[in-house]
Amino acid sequence: MEVASDGGELWRLTLQYSPVGMTLVGLDGRLLMVNHALCEMLGYDAEELSQRGFQEITHPEDLDTDLEHFELALNGVIDSYRLRKRYLHSDGHPVWGDLSVALVRDAGGEPLHFVSQILDVSEQHEYEQRLRETNEELQHERQALSAIFDTVNVGLLLIDQDGRYERMNRRHQETMQLPFPEGHAGEAGQLGHVYLPDGRLMTSEDMPSYRAARGEEFDDYTYWVGDDPGDRAAFSASARQVRGPAGEHLGAALAYQEITDLMRAMRVKDQFVSSVSHELRTPLTTVLGYLELLSDRTDLPVDAAGQIEIAQRNTQRLLALVSDVLDVARAGAGHLVLTRTATDLTALVREAVETSAPMARQSGVSLRADAPDRLVAVVDGSRMRQVVDNLVSNAVKYSERGDAVTVSLRRVDGAIELDVADTGIGIPPDEVDLVCDPFFRGGKVVERQISGTGLGLNIVKSIVAAHGGTLSVESELGRGSTFRVVVPAG
Ligand code: ADP
Repeated sequence: MEVASDGGELWRLTLQYSPVGMTLVGLDGRLLMVNHALCEMLGYDAEELSQRGFQEITHPEDLDTDLEHFELALNGVIDSYRLRKRYLHSDGHPVWGDLSVALVRDAGGEPLHFVSQILDVSEQHEYEQRLRETNEELQHERQALSAIFDTVNVGLLLIDQDGRYERMNRRHQETMQLPFPEGHAGEAGQLGHVYLPDGRLMTSEDMPSYRAARGEEFDDYTYWVGDDPGDRAAFSASARQVRGPAGEHLGAALAYQEITDLMRAMRVKDQFVSSVSHELRTPLTTVLGYLELLSDRTDLPVDAAGQIEIAQRNTQRLLALVSDVLDVARAGAGHLVLTRTATDLTALVREAVETSAPMARQSGVSLRADAPDRLVAVVDGSRMRQVVDNLVSNAVKYSERGDAVTVSLRRVDGAIELDVADTGIGIPPDEVDLVCDPFFRGGKVVERQISGTGLGLNIVKSIVAAHGGTLSVESELGRGSTFRVVVPAG
């Protein structure tokens, strides 16, 4: 090789110890000298590799480009070139290399050989490839999300931490017309034709966007929208806070959907239930009256008396059921009217306990009341009796032989506290919050075919609420339940 001897030694050392693949390539393409790094990179030993031309170790798809540049250099068009190309490893797999080639000429300018440096960039290439794929995936995801964002029939709004509207979907833009015909400035809390369920105009603080921007999270926040009271649309909104990776507050997301049809259907259903149960009550009361008259007669055959008693019992049950349905409908429409008078709650509790006593005896459940001699409060006596009756009969019904039910009544400051505690079957934790929903019945209770309608506790809750009181439940499955009513003494 045409290099000075000390220069030759330097060259040999550089070649040998360079971490980059290096080779001298003859004008015919054969590798004249290869270094250790290149052998490593391509899986050959030096002897095997220097037998070959670069054409053999180049991936066929990248060969033409390399040859073109090689020719251009030989013809003096260029002195050097750089390419990213694939080599073939001895085991056949492609290796990505970053190739830099320079042509060395002798003193007369005649080409001598090429010097090539090849950096193994397979890892980098793989990384770039993965990055490209991830970017494409992200892009795809973003497009899909954006399509969903704009197609769903739900209004979606992103608010930043200062309450400014950051992003909204098409549905949101369409719905904004109704409450804000004059336009919206894109900031939470702007007043518009937005009304609370009771018909009052919303203040800024009531607006769902304002509440969300202030950091609240909520579900099923119902409101009405539109200037004309006869033509308003109902919406139900949910809000969630948006947080960054470190938990920092970035803003809030608001989603809402129109529920006008649902609200109308519910109103029609309530009216229907209320009028049907009302219409049923009158004839049933008449039937009961005649049955009573009949049962008072002394000239009836013995078997007829028994049959009348059965008819009476069933009519009473039917009447109680219809009254319950009517109560639920009335309470739902906010029409539960109370007639408050000074009432001795101790007497009321004793009567309720006496009424449930036969059933308790039959089921082997002990039942006792713990109350002061007299405890007067200004309440609706018959409604409060309904409360105690429902709670006590539930306590007995959901207890087993050997269990105990205790009804305790006391005055605590200006309030009356009534506890109905049982050691019965208890309520599963996931049902505790549901027991007061209309028509809710426990899974196990239905399985065991314990009779009931699921209306009692809903009525209890409505009556207690109408008195300005609270109903709470504590229960442990298999250990029993305690229902606590607290009402102002009045
Ligand atoms: P009903 O008793 O007609 O089913 P309620 O509204 O009174 O309707 O009660 C609703 C549900 O709450 C019941 O079906 C039952 O699952 C549960 N529940 C009510 N009271 C008790 C109690 N004391 N112990 C256990 N479960 C109860």
